[in-house]
Amino acid sequence: MAVLSRLLKSRHCVFSSILCTIRTFSSSSLISRTHLRLSSSSSPSLERNVQWVFLGCPGVGKGTYAGRLTKLLGVPHISTGDLVREELANRGALASQLEKIVNQGHLVSDEIIIDLLSKRLEAGESRGESGFILDGFPRTIRQAEILEGVTDIDLVINLKLREEALLAKCLGRRICSECGGNYNIACIDIKGENGSPGMYMAPLLPPSECTNKLITRSDDIEEVVKERLRVYNEMSLPLEDFYRCRGKLLEFDLPGGIPESWPKLLEALHLDNYNDETSLAA
Ligand code: AMP
Repeated sequence: MAVLSRLLKSRHCVFSSILCTIRTFSSSSLISRTHLRLSSSSSPSLERNVQWVFLGCPGVGKGTYAGRLTKLLGVPHISTGDLVREELANRGALASQLEKIVNQGHLVSDEIIIDLLSKRLEAGESRGESGFILDGFPRTIRQAEILEGVTDIDLVINLKLREEALLAKCLGRRICSECGGNYNIACIDIKGENGSPGMYMAPLLPPSECTNKLITRSDDIEEVVKERLRVYNEMSLPLEDFYRCRGKLLEFDLPGGIPESWPKLLEALHLDNYNDETSLAA
């Protein structure tokens, strides 16, 4: 059972900071106390930068579309998966513990994730960042409750893609070890049958300078991806109802690859009039 304690919450001035102490109890003992600091506002989103969340299965494209939107809106893209991978790459204090969990396709504890996220948000705040697009957080109802306790989320975008494409997209994912660029070598061509439409997603190939530097994520192997999808359905799917009940959920069915999906997503978000340079690269 978890008991969350909010110690200080200031909602009276625009862009005020909220300092929360989250007290977590396991069934037997107090596990940890974590400070989560988020920027927030008492006014609706028009007077501050967006605070959006991306939901969706592994491989659906949260990183791709969150990354594009953050460029467009000038807010940081905060991916808890990236924070975990950074901790692993830097062989941080938590690395050996995290490695095992991630490579099994399981979720890291709420305490660790909130600790990594808090540090990222604090670092951003000291650089003057405001607003965010969260990708990969929250992943459990408990994480969503913690987030709700400390800030107002404006919108939750639930990306959906046909199940048969998800595994292929994870297995085709490649990252440039030098520039960090994300690519996908999978060519997804699902034939329409029994009245259901087909779907084509072209590969997203790297530029020639990255071709020899591509690496695969250690958790993008078939057995682990299947486990990640199972964990998503068990732990994260209930978030859809959590946010639907609050009137914050925008369901978005990806119609295909980036060239088809990106303009439609902008339209769904009423952002289609934005001066959008990133779409030129699609
Ligand atoms: P992702 O890049 O979002 O697929 O995340 C990679 C891995 O990091 C996940 O499989 C989890 O092990 C861990 N992770 C990322 N975000 C969270 C989260 N919000 N809660 C728990 N574990 C997470």
